[in-house]
Amino acid sequence: MKLENTLMMIPGPVPIAPRVQRAMGRPMFGHRGEEFGAIYDECREILAELFRTSNEVFVISGSGTASMEAAIGNVIGKDDTIITIENGKFGERLCDIGERYGNAVKLQYDWGTPIDLGAVEAALENGAKAVAMVHNETSAAIKNPVEEVAKLAHKYGALFIMDAITTVGGDTVEVDKWGVDLAFMGSQKCIAAPPGLSAITVSDAAWDAIVDKPPYYLDLKAYRKSGSNSPTQTPYTPGVPLISAMCEALRIVKEEGMQQRKHRHAQGAAAVRAAAGALGIELFPKIDKYHSYSNTVTAMNIPEGITDKQLRGGMLDMGIQISGGQSHLKGKIFRIGSMGNFTATDMVTTISTLELVLAKHGLVDRIGTGVEAASRELDKI
Ligand SMILES: *Cc1c(COP(=O)(O)O)cnc(C)c1O
Repeated sequence: MKLENTLMMIPGPVPIAPRVQRAMGRPMFGHRGEEFGAIYDECREILAELFRTSNEVFVISGSGTASMEAAIGNVIGKDDTIITIENGKFGERLCDIGERYGNAVKLQYDWGTPIDLGAVEAALENGAKAVAMVHNETSAAIKNPVEEVAKLAHKYGALFIMDAITTVGGDTVEVDKWGVDLAFMGSQKCIAAPPGLSAITVSDAAWDAIVDKPPYYLDLKAYRKSGSNSPTQTPYTPGVPLISAMCEALRIVKEEGMQQRKHRHAQGAAAVRAAAGALGIELFPKIDKYHSYSNTVTAMNIPEGITDKQLRGGMLDMGIQISGGQSHLKGKIFRIGSMGNFTATDMVTTISTLELVLAKHGLVDRIGTGVEAASRELDKI
């Protein structure tokens, strides 16, 4: 039986509010008129607040990866060196993109383990135009020390590129304060808009460092030029219905308020970790004083005595979708998102469903232990 109302508790895409859905279904309008300009302006304004920047923000019609490529491709040419830091799937993607455009010096760590700041500095000593890393590594549910790396990058005159795809709109992001030169987010993650869009912000230093031949479709200067038109525009036809939906999703973020939204995300993740502890499930990431557990997704080892298919399939049969591991972590870990507009009820339902599945496989004797532990975090939302 395929349920139409499956509750998605995955780290993106996440459920969208009915009013966001309705915004997407509006009759079509052109992208060079006042109506589009107003929506685009509103999106960019709220996004700048979420990035915490006075730099310009542009919306790109392409998922998060399009902005990853825009960030790197606009400042890295074939003779440039970029240091890329990997401790998960998306860090790996930054490495891959870096290699396409220039020379990537890859700092690789086991997924879900801390990066070595000493190694970052040593790599910077050899010279690099930029350093790129992921703030919240969604594949491993670990939050990386972006502030520290930004400081190191600037000490050596390198640009700092930050993938903030699963933190913008759900966790603390301080683009200006941290000195991030290029930062980007994705629509289907914390802001709870439909997938297909991303947004990028660019510092003055990054503008000065743009290469002669950036990727054509992702040419940031073209975005800046169209963005200064009146009414404001994008260089090429954007995903108009998606931008309408994004605007509505961003209004919801604003209505909730970023403080409360961050708090809710953090409590959601704390609830999952508390439940895991109570149920004897090991958390996957290994953290140290520079790293922390993610506030927007939690990764756990699949316990002995149950397979990935039994665990996630069992939950899906009961109407809850959670995520597995990516690449070599497939079959080893499972992930629960605390991302978007989820409620305490969604979290309780998810954890109790997990308990039901574990009980079915004889892995817990008493149902309610996980929910009880989680509720101590959830009642703070
Ligand atoms: C989701 C995600 C991306 C981008 O993925 P898309 O599928 O292109 O949206 C990049 N980085 C991180 C950390 C992500 O979570």
